Order: sequence, then C-alpha cells, then structure tokens
Amino acid sequence: MLSSKFSNVVVSNLGFRSFHSSAFSLAHTTKLLINGKFVESKTKEWLDVRNPATNEIVTKVPLATQEEMKAAVDAAKNAFPAWRDVSVSNRSRIIANYRALINKNMDKIAAIITEEQGKTLPDAKGDVFRGLEVVEHACNVATLMMGETVENVSKNVDIYSYNQPLGVCAGITPFNFPAMIPLWMFPLAIACGNTYVLKPSERVPGASMYLAELAIEAGVPAGVLNIIHGARDAVNFICDEPAIRAISFVGSGEAGTYIHARGTKNGKRVQSNMAAKNHATILPDAHKERTLDALTGAAFGASGQRCMALSAAVFVGDAQNWIPELVERARKLKVTCGAVEGADLGPVISPQAKERIHTLIQRGVDEGATLLLDGRNVKVPEAYSKGNFVGPTVLSDVTPDMTCYKEEIFGPVLVCLKAATLDDAIKLINNNPYGNGTAIFTSSGAAARKYQYEIDVGQVGINLPIPVPLPFFSFTGSRASFVGSSHFYGKQGVNFYTQTKTITSNWRDDDISTGVATHMPIL
Ligand code: NAD
Repeated sequence: MLSSKFSNVVVSNLGFRSFHSSAFSLAHTTKLLINGKFVESKTKEWLDVRNPATNEIVTKVPLATQEEMKAAVDAAKNAFPAWRDVSVSNRSRIIANYRALINKNMDKIAAIITEEQGKTLPDAKGDVFRGLEVVEHACNVATLMMGETVENVSKNVDIYSYNQPLGVCAGITPFNFPAMIPLWMFPLAIACGNTYVLKPSERVPGASMYLAELAIEAGVPAGVLNIIHGARDAVNFICDEPAIRAISFVGSGEAGTYIHARGTKNGKRVQSNMAAKNHATILPDAHKERTLDALTGAAFGASGQRCMALSAAVFVGDAQNWIPELVERARKLKVTCGAVEGADLGPVISPQAKERIHTLIQRGVDEGATLLLDGRNVKVPEAYSKGNFVGPTVLSDVTPDMTCYKEEIFGPVLVCLKAATLDDAIKLINNNPYGNGTAIFTSSGAAARKYQYEIDVGQVGINLPIPVPLPFFSFTGSRASFVGSSHFYGKQGVNFYTQTKTITSNWRDDDISTGVATHMPIL
C-alpha cells in the first residue's frame, strides 16, 4: 500500500523511484545511482522502508549486489581523472548551483524526510538547512584548499604545497539526519576534486536520492557521485574495496568502531562520528525560564533521536527544585505525525526502537529511578495509532550506575541527576565515556570558563543547548563519540578529503655548476 499524504504530492515523479508491484504490496522501489543513471537493482533482496507514523510501506530499498557496488566504484574511479581536471572555480560554480537547488527544493526534501524518518516538518527543514550550510561553505573550496608557500628557504629554493584530492571517497550515513549528514560528506569531497560512493541509511534512502538528483541537475558529471544501497554487506564492501581511499561514517558506536578498524586495516582514512550521551549542567544562578525552555527542546526535539540531544540533565544544588517545572513543559508537548501542523514530536524510527526505549525506561524504574513523566502508551490521533510513538519521559534520581544512564537511549527520555557542586558535575560528566556535546546554563562567567576548560567533551554550549559548530569550524565530538584523525567539515573536513603534496624547487638564473655533494646540505 502506498503510504501517506506526501506520496502523491512529492514522491511519485522522482526519477530515483519506480513502481514495483508484488503479490504483497504496491510500492515504489528506490533505485541505485551508478555513473549518472538511476538504475533498478537486480537484487532479490529488498528491505521495506516504512513511514514511522503509520508503519505503511513508503518504498523498498535494495541490498545491492556485489556487481552493482563494483560498478558504482568503477564509475567513481573512471570519473576521477576528468573531474580532478575541472578547474577549482568551475567545481565551485557547480556547488553554488547545487546550493541554489537545495534551497529551492527544501520543502520537498523535508517532506521526504518526514515521510521516511518521522521528524516534524519544521525540524526536517532544519535537517536540510544545516546540511545546506556545509554546501555553502564548500562553494568556497578554492580558498579552503589553499596550500602553503615559503620562498627562499635556500638560495633560489622555494617550498610550496598543494592539497590534492584523494580519488574515490565513500560515505556511510545514519537514519536520524537523512539530509544533513550526507551533506556533511559528498559536497565537500567532490568540491575538493574527489569522486564519491554514498551508502545512505537503508532506513531513510529518499532524501539522499533526491539530493543526488539535484546534484546531477546542478551539473555534477556522471560517475562523480554514485549511490549504493544495502546494510552490512555494503559496508564491508566499502571497507574492503581497494579503490576507495577514505570513508566517512556517522552512526552507532558499534558500527563506527567496526568500520574504523576494518577500513584502517585496509589502509584507508576513516572518520567515524558515533554515539553520545550529552549532559546539560544546570546551575542555580541560570536564567530559569530560558534554561528550562532550552532543555525541553533539546531533550525531546526530534523525539530525542539527535546525536546532540541533551539526554542527561545534571541539576546542581538548588537547581534541582526546577525539575517539576521541566516536567510540566515536557507534558505539554504535542506528539503526533510529524506532518501534522503544531507537532512537537514525531514517532521514533521503528517498532524495535520504541520497544527498546520502553525497556530502558522500565530498567530505570526497576533500578531505582523516579518516573516523573511516562511517555509509554502516549495517545496519538487514531490515524497514527499504528505508529511508533513514545511521549516525553522524565526519569529523576538517576545515578551513574543505572542502565538508563549508561546507554544511549535515543528516544524522548531525559534522565535527571543531581550534583552538589559544579566540580561534582564536571567529574560525573568526565567519567561518562562519551564526548559529543554538553551545555552549561549559568549567569556566572567564571563558572562557564571553568566548565569549558575542565570538561572533557568536544563541543560545549554556554547557555546554548545544542552546540553544533557551523561549517567554518568542524564537528568535534571526542572520546567514545569519535574515532579518526580529522573531523567532519571545516578545515579538518578539507584535510580529510585531500592529501598534501609539497614541492621544493630550485630555479637558478646562472649556469654555474656547484659540483657533486654527497653530504646532507647545511643551509
Ligand atoms: P547505525 O550504526 O545503526 O547505522 C549507521 C550506518 O551504519 C547505516 O548506514 C547502516 O547500514 C550501517 N550499519 C549499521 N549497523 C552496522 C553494523 N553492525 N556493521 C556495519 N554497518 C552497520 O546508526 P543509526 O541507528 O542509523 O543512527 C543512530 C546512531 O548514530 C546513534 O548512536 C547516534 O548517536 C549516532 N549519530 C552520531 C552522530 C555524530 O555526529 N556523532 C550524528 C548522528 C547520529
């Protein structure tokens, strides 16, 4: 059965999908993108992509065959020499066209995201917008790729360096940001002169496919961007394929450490952004209303399925008296299909995710936490009664030994802890293995300064709940939230997608011979 109100409006005319009928269902299938063409996979293995608000099938996504994946890599390999030869200014112009097309089609991309992933439409637009900012930054690639020069390091000798593309790069993406995370990857990589093979999350392939259509429309030549679909076999293929030089991964810790180990063993560069448990530290001198608003949005927005969601709140001293007001804010949030006007929280990605979240809430209760707000059995409109909804949930009196604290819940569940002092809060957070993001709420500059200095987390917000750096910086998660040597986007992103060649030249304007020297020169 075709799902949801969007299918007729947006999805049916897209080149990357076609109708597929079987004895069981009539659904679109999602194609592969190989060498500039959207092609139907010949595989016999397909996965259903379901609208999380209804569990109706949106599309079927193929587990691409080995031949198809090889064809995608070959296309990228063959396209590389000519793409590298395109002047950097012309590559920038294509990225600038792309930027304009994404901007123009933001509503369509957002609708695809809401249909496949579940988040609210305004949040889906934010997903596209934050990716678009990386594309905007990539428009300036010539400046970003500049090397270094020093003249006259010796008589007539100059040294200069170029940052050159690597060749074929690959990206493996998660379900929670269907547009932003692919846009962290391939636009900058191809702007630098690389060619690309993207494997989107098999749970949300549509946004990547539509972004690829727009890339082609923008002027990205055949073979420069290719898309394969699949799960573990596709990931293993990417890790093992000799032509692929670098892998960008975003997703769970289990997959990220595996891909980093397997990819680097095969001599590739790998950057892995992984799971998180992000803490807010709330001091009693913070602006109460603003802090509680920020905390509520950051804990429950996107149903907690953001790697930078504030999923643990550490109330210091008297700030713990604010917890009841936080609960009241959370209770008022509207939970329904993300396409419904005024929705605050859409569904979580799958029935399995919902089940896991329920289990972790119960584990919290069983292990001694206080359930102040229970989002299990949340009521949603009848039309969405089969969806994977979990309402905002607040657990307090949580301690670091509890499972609900130790695990990344990835749902709309806020665990509240208490600390007597700022030092105690910092110690608690630094003992947690994850280092993606954290935020402190305070009116004390001295407390904020101490926090930013002592906290062992890669991205820190001060009176700001979700401190995702803009693309002229890099996304700098740390500890168990990242493995690799160069972060995503910004200077580090360019670093990841390029290799430096350094030239030492000796141009003389005389014809004097200096004779043979067998010793190392001393300048
Ligand atoms: P996931 O790890 O299940 O899937 C991500 C990708 O890895 C998918 O393309 C999938 O096909 C592949 N994959 C999944 N399991 C695999 C395995 N065992 N071996 C090899 N490949 C595998 O992640 P998800 O559930 O799609 O995304 C949610 C996770 O991503 C959360 O842990 C979240 O914190 C994390 N995340 C991190 C960031 C960040 O920047 N740190 C950003 C977004 C999401």
